[in-house]
This record gives sequence, structure tokens and C-alpha cells, in this order.
Amino acid sequence: MKPTPIKQFSQKELAAQNRDQPLFEAAEKIYPRTAHGWFSNWRWLLVWFTQSIFYGSAWLNWNGRQAILFDLTARKFYIFGLVIFPQDFIYLAVLLVISALSLFLFTTIAGRLFCGYACPQTVYTEIFMWIERKVEGDRTARMRLDKGALSPRKFGLKMLKHGIWLAVGIWTGFTFVGYFTPIHQLAAEVLAWTLGPWETFWIFFYGFATYGNAGWMREQVCKYMCPYARFQSAMFDKDTLTVTYDAKRGDPRGSRSKNADYASQGLGACVDCGVCVQVCPTGIDIRNGLQYECTGCTACIDGCNDIMDKMGYEPGLIRYTTEFALKNGLDSKSMWKRVFRPRVLVYSAILAAIIIAAALTLAARVPMKVNVIRDRSMPRITETGTIDNVYKLQIMNALEESVTYVVAVEGIPGVKILTRNTIAVAGATNQAMAVRVEIPAGSAPGGSNKISFIVRDEKNPDIVVTEKAVFIVPR
Ligand code: SF4
Ligand code: SF4
Repeated sequence: MKPTPIKQFSQKELAAQNRDQPLFEAAEKIYPRTAHGWFSNWRWLLVWFTQSIFYGSAWLNWNGRQAILFDLTARKFYIFGLVIFPQDFIYLAVLLVISALSLFLFTTIAGRLFCGYACPQTVYTEIFMWIERKVEGDRTARMRLDKGALSPRKFGLKMLKHGIWLAVGIWTGFTFVGYFTPIHQLAAEVLAWTLGPWETFWIFFYGFATYGNAGWMREQVCKYMCPYARFQSAMFDKDTLTVTYDAKRGDPRGSRSKNADYASQGLGACVDCGVCVQVCPTGIDIRNGLQYECTGCTACIDGCNDIMDKMGYEPGLIRYTTEFALKNGLDSKSMWKRVFRPRVLVYSAILAAIIIAAALTLAARVPMKVNVIRDRSMPRITETGTIDNVYKLQIMNALEESVTYVVAVEGIPGVKILTRNTIAVAGATNQAMAVRVEIPAGSAPGGSNKISFIVRDEKNPDIVVTEKAVFIVPR
């Protein structure tokens, strides 16, 4: 067979093609219509819940200080009664593991549940869109306003909207920084115009990031910037719940009068009203199947259910279902049985085990840490033949009140501390003490001998830490 010749394009043709197919296409602005319904109510409930915690808890006090404060300068994290030191960062690592596993688990069960309900991008976009609706009106009013020529009214509305957006963004940045610098102090500095350069930078950085992401970029962050959108499909399988259009029930689509017997007209339940597309914040048509742009926000479920209700049809033409259930016509009970499949049970068991282990470890955590370093000077042999070694004990008090600790030593017959054996350490601080330890002549062989320091809370002897060390005897 003769090979097909490869067409050679002239420079002119190539230039023309480049003009026809630009590498960059400007995004079309999306004007989402408001959806009302069960899922929207849940989404708003979560917006209120997460944002009340975020904006509110920075102002809470506990034991005379900010209840939640990540004090990077002092390298201490305060979370209500808990003080976390750099040595405790294992708990933060465990928290990250728990978060990652939860994300795997919830994605396996119900796809982009996190994106649709709890992701900051979704939450702030929802808040910014609400402001936009309040200022500029509903979808049609906003489209009309944008199409119209610049007028004093349009200018005023745009200024008002951007002014409120910026205020919310800057307030969000201020609250965020308030978790790292005591927020009352930060507020006083703002009012007195004495804010430091770093605080100013981070407030504006985080503020403008919120304004830009939730006000301007919106669905483009989810579509083009978020890596989760790209790899989440690896966690999906045919039993994962996703927002799906039931094509078997909906097609063929077409308009009809409310009381018409649509089946006799050869139509499905979809009236082709386009509401599911109009409410979609990413501007996609869910009837074309599962798409990576879908954030699982469920607005199309509420929008379509509203139409079904108006038409007097069963709700759920667009609903949470699985690929397997849809293909095999499973009822809801059989579908849920398959949703809780071995993979989900294994993820749940691992997650539960890690959470329980972390909680038990945290509950049993001794609020004190001791670090022992032997002084590198040579052991001292006294005139009576006793031998001394010197140690530096670094004692960290993880409680918020001052504690007096008593230090004892054991491991060699007759071993004792010659210097002061008590030390008071202020709350959430650490302090070093030098300790001289002595053993009687001939009580230990030459070389390294194991000893242990026992550091005990004077008032609460149950709080105790034993730390191993070596005692050097000259050969
Ligand atoms: S398709 Fe539906 S669930 Fe997906 S983003 Fe659009 S409205 Fe939300
Ligand atoms: S909202 Fe429902 S009825 Fe309307 S076009 Fe979408 S799927 Fe069809």
C-alpha cells in the first residue's frame, strides 16, 4: 500500500493556523443561578460552621492567653489547655496523616465531598457570590449589568461589590495572621498604625489571595490550579457516589407541557430546561457525564429537583449514585451495601486505629520532657576516692503553671547528687540545671556505667520522667 504523503504547510498557512487556534483562550465569565434545596442548606450550614470557627476562635481566651495560638517565635503551639513544643511535632505529623486518610476515605465513598462542602476555595467563593447577588442582583440582572455600558449606577455597584470583597478578604487575612500573632495585640497595632512589616505583608497577602481566588478566579482555581482535581479519579471506582444525571430516565430530553404524558411522546423526564447548567458554578453540563471540572457542589441536584417538583415528577433525575448502581438499576439499599465495600472498611479501620492511638497517646502524655547531657570534662577523683561526673539537665515544663521538680539518680550502689536537686520551671518554658553526681570509690568498674535520672513533679509525683545517662569511671 502506498503511504499517504505528509502535507507540507507553507509559512503563511502555519501563521494562519496559529491565528485560528490560539494557545490561550480567555475564560468566559460564569453567572451561576442560585439553587435552593436540601443540599444548598447543608452547604450553607457548613459555611456558617467552618467560618464561625475560623473567624471566632481566634478571639477566645484560655488561662489568660489566646486559646489557639501558633507562636512561631517562641516555637510553641497553644491549643486550649494543650501546649505543643517542637519535640511534640509528631502529633502534627499524625494530624496530617489523619487528614490525608480522611480525604482518601471520603473521596472513595462520595467523590469530591471535601471540594463541594469544606474546601476554603468553595466556601469563600460561596460567600463572595452571595455578596455579589446582594449587590448586583440575580443571574439575569448581573448579566444585564455586565453587558450594559458604564453608567454611574454600574460604577457604583461594582465599587460597592469590590469594596465589600476587599474588606472580607482583608478581614480574613487579619484573622489568619491573628492565629500566629496574638489577635488582640494585632488589633491594637492596627488601630495605632504600628503594625510590623511582616504582619502587614501577610495580612495583605492572604487578604488579596482570598479576594483574587474567591472573587475573580473562582472555578478556574478548581479547574486549572487544584492538583486534587487531577488525582482524585485514582481514588474513584464504580461504587463511588458521584453527582450523576440518570440518562436512562432523563433521555430523550425535550420540552413538554406540565400535564403531558411525556412517555407517550417518546420523551424522558428531562425537560431540557438548562437549569442544571445555569446553577453550575463551573459552567458544565452534568448530563454529559462525570467531568473533572465537577466539584460535587450538588447545586445541579437542587436545581433539577426544583424543576421535577414543579413538573410533578419524582425527584432525583440528577442525584448521588454510583456507576454500578446506575448501570444495573440497583435500589438505594443495594447501592449503599456496595458503597461500604472492603476498601472503605479497610480505610475506616486504619483511620479509626490511628485516631484512637493518637488520642490515647495524647491523653497519656507526660507534661514534662527531660534531656540529659553529660559534661565533656574528665571525671573527677576526690581525695577520699569518690568519683564525680557533671551533667546538664534540660527540663521542659509543658504545663501552663510553674512546677518544682525533684531530681534523683540511680543505677550504681551509693550514687547520689551533690548539688541542688530541685528546680522550679515556669509554665510552658524550659530550664537547664547543672548536676554533680558522685559514686563511692570502687562501686563501679572502669569505663561507662549506666545510670538513670528520675525527675518528678514535687506536688504531683505521678508526673515523672526517667532519662538514661552514662557515668564514666576512669580506668
Ligand atoms: S455539575 Fe453539578 S455538582 Fe458538579 S459542579 Fe456543576 S452544579 Fe456542582
Ligand atoms: S435541570 Fe433537570 S430537567 Fe432541567 S435540563 Fe437539567 S436535568 Fe433536565
